[in-house]
Amino acid sequence: MKKTVLFTAPQESWQAYKPYLGDLFNKAGLDINLVNETDEPQDVTYIVYAPSGPVQDFSVFKNVTLVQSLWAGVETALKNKTLTQPLARMIDPGMSEGMADYVVGHVMRHHLGTASHTMAKPGEWLEHWAPPLAHTRTVGFLGVGALGMHCAHAVAKQGFNVVGWSRSLKSDDVVTCYAGDDGLSNVLAQSDILVLLMPDTPETENMINADTIAQMKDGVAIINPGRGPLIEDAALLAGLDSGKLSGATLDVFRIEPLPANDPYWTHPKVLVTPHIASETRLETSAAVVVENIVRGEAGLPFLHLVDRDAGY
Ligand code: NDP
Repeated sequence: MKKTVLFTAPQESWQAYKPYLGDLFNKAGLDINLVNETDEPQDVTYIVYAPSGPVQDFSVFKNVTLVQSLWAGVETALKNKTLTQPLARMIDPGMSEGMADYVVGHVMRHHLGTASHTMAKPGEWLEHWAPPLAHTRTVGFLGVGALGMHCAHAVAKQGFNVVGWSRSLKSDDVVTCYAGDDGLSNVLAQSDILVLLMPDTPETENMINADTIAQMKDGVAIINPGRGPLIEDAALLAGLDSGKLSGATLDVFRIEPLPANDPYWTHPKVLVTPHIASETRLETSAAVVVENIVRGEAGLPFLHLVDRDAGY
């Protein structure tokens, strides 16, 4: 029987994804009724979803076996209490590639001390050191999941020593991995540059605070493309002002867009980027969506299911 896939995301996404998904369903040999609205919610088997899309009440979709998010972060989806169906987050190779570009670029910016040169006044010939060699520096990743591990490998290719910390202990040929409280202290104590790629959950909120900053190396730089609530903002600003931290690149914030009067905008050691570190890419993410639906039709377990207890 023909299965119905409901696509609920902003209209421009529907226009972009519709031909790709239709083509990929055909190639996979699936006979799919792909729609972006329906009067018969009981007929829908799969939902492709962005939280910014029109569907907000999922309670009417009694026969949906999978809600496939187009977003990597699921904190907004998990706040929707009508969404009780199995939920898969987006793990998109295109998004990982973009994130690696962002992270490598900003690691290099901090490593090379670029900010001090861009802030030099005309004629100000800074008596400065040449940057140390990459292999003498350690880049730490808090979060070595789909994005963190991909970025950690990309940073390692630049010659840095790379360490990572996660909830469950990983084993990796390139990245020295840690878990647990001692593992966190270890990563904080050895990192010259720290990259935050964890989800926003009750456990990760304010992970960067006065206590954890005190455990960091003097002069550490922080790059946060993860989520704003990972950082206790007052503690970060205090660390920057005291000289403990050499700089921060912040892509995500508790309130977005970042209000015009937020101190981050004008802090000389902070670079604000407007939540552009990476995004879901059409071609690669469409393939992920179809792969998961193919698995559902074959009776195989879905990929990338969210653990609602863990919050990600
Ligand atoms: P994953 O779920 O694959 O990875 C999350 C990592 O964080 C895992 O290593 C996980 O540990 C670790 N983690 C989670 N909770 C804890 C905890 N309490 N203590 C220690 N480690 C923890 O997510 P992704 O890599 O796909 O994405 C990471 C985040 O990046 C997203 O949640 C999203 O917020 C953000 N993002 C930002 C974008 C941007 O443009 N700025 C774009 C896309 C995503 P474990 O491996 O043990 O599960």
